[in-house]
Amino acid sequence: MGKDGTLEAFRIECAHFISVAKESGEACPAYGAILPPVFHQDAMRWQRYCYDSGWAGVHWPTDHGGMGLSKDHSVVWHEECAKAEIAPYLNLQGLVLAGEAIMRCGTPEQKKVFLRPTLKNEILWCQLFSEPGAGSDLAGLQSSAILDGDYFVLNGQKVWSSNAQFAQFGILMARTDFQASKHKGISFFLLDMNLPGIEVRPLKQMTGDHEFCEVFFDDVLMPKNALLGDLHGGWSVAMTVLEDERSGAGSADVISLSRRLQSMTSNAKETDSLTRQSLTSLLSRGRSLQSLLEGRGSDPMMAPIAKLLNTEIGYDEAQIESRILGPLSMLNSDATDRLLYSPGMRIAGGSSEIQRNIIGERILGLPREPQISNSPEA
Ligand SMILES: Cc1cc2nc3c(=O)[nH]c(=O)nc-3n(C[C@H](O)[C@H](O)[C@H](O)COP(=O)(O)OP(=O)(O)OC[C@H]3O[C@@H](n4cnc5c(N)ncnc54)[C@H](O)[C@@H]3O)c2cc1C
Repeated sequence: MGKDGTLEAFRIECAHFISVAKESGEACPAYGAILPPVFHQDAMRWQRYCYDSGWAGVHWPTDHGGMGLSKDHSVVWHEECAKAEIAPYLNLQGLVLAGEAIMRCGTPEQKKVFLRPTLKNEILWCQLFSEPGAGSDLAGLQSSAILDGDYFVLNGQKVWSSNAQFAQFGILMARTDFQASKHKGISFFLLDMNLPGIEVRPLKQMTGDHEFCEVFFDDVLMPKNALLGDLHGGWSVAMTVLEDERSGAGSADVISLSRRLQSMTSNAKETDSLTRQSLTSLLSRGRSLQSLLEGRGSDPMMAPIAKLLNTEIGYDEAQIESRILGPLSMLNSDATDRLLYSPGMRIAGGSSEIQRNIIGERILGLPREPQISNSPEA
């Protein structure tokens, strides 16, 4: 494979690889940031197929099973997957959040242990950040991991942990120092989900799926080498992970958005004038986002703006679609899924209100909102 060539040559190779995989039924349909249980097996098989064919981890080092190409090549891969409506990887939590964090902060041993197995699908990851009392205010988390000899003793509870029922490892934030100030007493861990004392309870959501779980820790003995980065230095590791999570929207999203806008335009021809008006307004918001992403998609400052606009448009789109379909929207499974799924996307990865706060304070330079406990949003 001539993967050292230009981006355009690489694009042609990607398109060819994807089309052959799609034709032969190996490729898994696109499902967004969170792997739904219904696609679990297909997605696992697709990730392994990519690895075995030398097409996993486009910008990951070759020493760890990746293709060793640039991030621009990775963008091309994502764009071609979006055009073919194919999942670009197994799940965001492993292939982006855990993988990038380990590449940035991991010891050579941690890179060796985790990176290749993640690309090969031998490790499926979940993200163990949110707690019942710590979502937007993530620094308020209370799960504790207290160092005792060669182990951290882990206690507490997480919630909203997507795919935790299938995961072999989780990226975990826990408090390691209760005396330090809120942000300074947190550490970041790579938690083996099979350790004794971990209980995972799937939660049923209104789509009927069990995509996320509650996870309980009862005196779990985590070996010392589960720590990623510095002891008590977990907040800075987590902030870069959250940036990775929010910066998901890019040129590949523009491709999916264009497709959706196209279908909205077709629908608009067949609806009443009130619905057409709503669709026109949605179309103009969509086009604004599209040009914003085309022009400045790679700018990290765009991450909260794109996250906010994308998920709000997705929500309104689902509402309008159900209005057009009427009662059928409760019977047509794709439209029903979109209707029931879209509210959650306005919350996952930081709610719309939190994105507005970030945009106001960090991008527009407005005064910070009054803080009760001096906690930044997470
Ligand atoms: C589909 C889905 C998947 C998820 N997957 C994961 C996962 O895998 N791992 C994980 O760790 N977490 C996950 N989450 C959790 C997600 O990160 C949190 O739900 C989110 O950060 C909000 O936290 P919360 O639910 O505790 O709401 P809260 O923080 O309690 O917020 C409640 C409401 O108050 C508003 N609010 C809070 N603070 C402010 C403020 N300062 N200004 C204005 N409004 C505010 C919020 O916008 C929200 O409307 C997932 C969530 C969803 C919906």
